[in-house]
Amino acid sequence: MNTPSDPHKPVEPVARGPFLLSTWSFGERANAAAWPGLARGGSALDAVEEVCVFCEDDPDIDSVGFGGLPDRDGRMSLDGCVMLSPEKSGSVCAIRRHRHPVTIARLVMDHTPHVMLAGEGADEFAQAHGQQQEELLSPGAAEAWKKWKQDRLPADQSRDQGVRPFDRDSTGNLFAAGDDESRWNNNHDTIGVLSLDEHGLMAGACSTSGMPWKVPGRVGDSPIIGHGLYVDPQGGAAVATGTGELVMAICGSFLAVEEMRRGAMPREAVTEVLERIAARSDLEPTHQVAIIALRPDGHWGAGALRPGFRFVASDATGHHVLQPEVVQLPGT
Ligand code: ASP
Repeated sequence: MNTPSDPHKPVEPVARGPFLLSTWSFGERANAAAWPGLARGGSALDAVEEVCVFCEDDPDIDSVGFGGLPDRDGRMSLDGCVMLSPEKSGSVCAIRRHRHPVTIARLVMDHTPHVMLAGEGADEFAQAHGQQQEELLSPGAAEAWKKWKQDRLPADQSRDQGVRPFDRDSTGNLFAAGDDESRWNNNHDTIGVLSLDEHGLMAGACSTSGMPWKVPGRVGDSPIIGHGLYVDPQGGAAVATGTGELVMAICGSFLAVEEMRRGAMPREAVTEVLERIAARSDLEPTHQVAIIALRPDGHWGAGALRPGFRFVASDATGHHVLQPEVVQLPGT
């Protein structure tokens, strides 16, 4: 057991003041966009929505919002959610005509007695609340889908075991050549974000187009409260990214928060989640899961099943793109 004087006790990072923690290196640009408002005393809820909206608007991020990759049949569907506490959360899935699932999720939270709206009903709700209807399939994503249709196998290959025929490395937009994060640029990359504001409010949100080439109708962990995202002011907040089915099998975000509620540091909490996933007998080499976690006292941490995950911590000192200290299956 570690004691405070134990030289081997890991240094647990802790936020002092407003703070943002986002998944993947593209979170850096999004955090930078949301930071000024948060730094001026803005709310954590506004900040997490803004981070997601930034990514949803960016056509170069091909796993979130406009620019996201479609399902097997070339149709887009977006998922997202937002959460403040077990009493206050909102979620939408299978959105087909509106770009900002997180904003719609916040409207669900604020204007309905429900937690989650799905499909056509969610699109109609968005429209009724003034969200603009639009085509979600970007020209780049349509092109990628056509190439995939031509070169790849249909239906049962929709979890994309291969190389995505859409190489962003050459553009330098998201991943520099040789950057091992690009390894995971072939099947997922939800933007997940957690924040603490100067008033002590904690919030979380996530937004995704889900797995590219998925079976139409598939919904992953991201928009499901307790799976992709969970926030409890009594315990902490956690958001997951990666192979949603693995996270859904263990209520990954809820599990991380529950561990923190019982006193675990974020690092210990994410380790527990990843250990359970790593223990599965059917784990495939293409499976990746990463999770970021934040406690109400500001302690934060991150972990991933395999190398190649990056995340971004933003505070008054800047936006820091980091690799997690916890990698459950290093060398894989
Ligand atoms: N977890 C998301 C899903 O399974 C994908 C991702 O994180 O990229 O839909």
